[in-house]
Amino acid sequence: MPKLDNIKNWTRQNLREWMVEKAKTQSKVQAYRADQVFYWLYQQRVGSFSEMLNLGKETRKMLEENFWISSLKKAEEQHSRDGSIKYRLLLEDGKSIEAVFMPHTNHNTICVSSQVGCGMGCDFCMTGTMGLIRNLTTAEIIDQVLAVYHDIPAEQKLRNLVFMGMGEPFHNYQNLMQALEILTDEHGFNFSQRRITVSTSGLLPKIRRFGNEKIKANLAISLNGVTDEVRSKLMPVNTAYNLEKLMKVCSEFPLESRRRITFEYILIRDLTDSIEDAKGLIRLLHGLKFKINLIPYNSDPANKYQAPTEKQSRKFQKYLLDHNVVAPLRISKGQDIQGACGQLVVAENQQTELIFDKNKLLATEMAT
Ligand code: SF4
Repeated sequence: MPKLDNIKNWTRQNLREWMVEKAKTQSKVQAYRADQVFYWLYQQRVGSFSEMLNLGKETRKMLEENFWISSLKKAEEQHSRDGSIKYRLLLEDGKSIEAVFMPHTNHNTICVSSQVGCGMGCDFCMTGTMGLIRNLTTAEIIDQVLAVYHDIPAEQKLRNLVFMGMGEPFHNYQNLMQALEILTDEHGFNFSQRRITVSTSGLLPKIRRFGNEKIKANLAISLNGVTDEVRSKLMPVNTAYNLEKLMKVCSEFPLESRRRITFEYILIRDLTDSIEDAKGLIRLLHGLKFKINLIPYNSDPANKYQAPTEKQSRKFQKYLLDHNVVAPLRISKGQDIQGACGQLVVAENQQTELIFDKNKLLATEMAT
């Protein structure tokens, strides 16, 4: 019996090619069946091949002999006063990740993880304290979206997907790009490329590569400091790719019309929240098409930094707005459930062990 492959790791193109190969030797399956499989997986969101009614018996049997269909089990849900929901999701190997659903007045956003933990070691970030445990597979990225999507009432539209959860997405480049291909596939999830944002700490070779991809998702860069001294203190990546190099790559990044690079800037009391910093931001980003998301730091007793005062945050924002810079102040959603920016972390004693059995995930939480 051949080892089964998780079908959600496959793009439609790969599946079509596989079917063409199969047709040469074994079965009369035709490539367009891959389009139908995608429809059932991502538009109907079925959990078994037997539910894919228009495929024909022989095709269904062949799929069952070669593939299985994954899903992620929700281990925990935390509901915030602002309507955000943080999910802890169990992976096949017993690790956990987090995804956050964030409702807005007329649209919704899902914040997705790309790795278990993160190896970038940003000094202000809870996820960074975990270190990198492993990359997520394409299927695990997709299954997060499906798991959260399942809970959104039909009348509320999902509009945005942001890769700002646990992990550095560009450290998991190939799986990320495959996931984007499936999410934006017209036969699959059919999600708008313009509504997907990938946030990086600033891995320059991957930013260049991302700019040349045929999938044109939005680019966000976690900036957080306007001098190399401050940025290197907060983000070790800056010692390899300093601000001068980062700005050069940003100035060369190919942007479609009416698109901009988003720079995320964390306001930390007495470190990044002065008017001098605001002036530095304007100088640094001069000449780029950009907007800035201002994110007041969320104080945590375990961390050494402090949240800015609301007055100072507003003053900082006003300075930018007065200089015609688009700079929304993002009061992080889900603060009371540790679901806000930089707060996603799964404690070691919440990691779980799973028993995997064919198409089913039988999750057994190990009390540790
Ligand atoms: S801010 Fe992002 S890149 Fe930095 S440690 Fe946290 S998850 Fe990783």
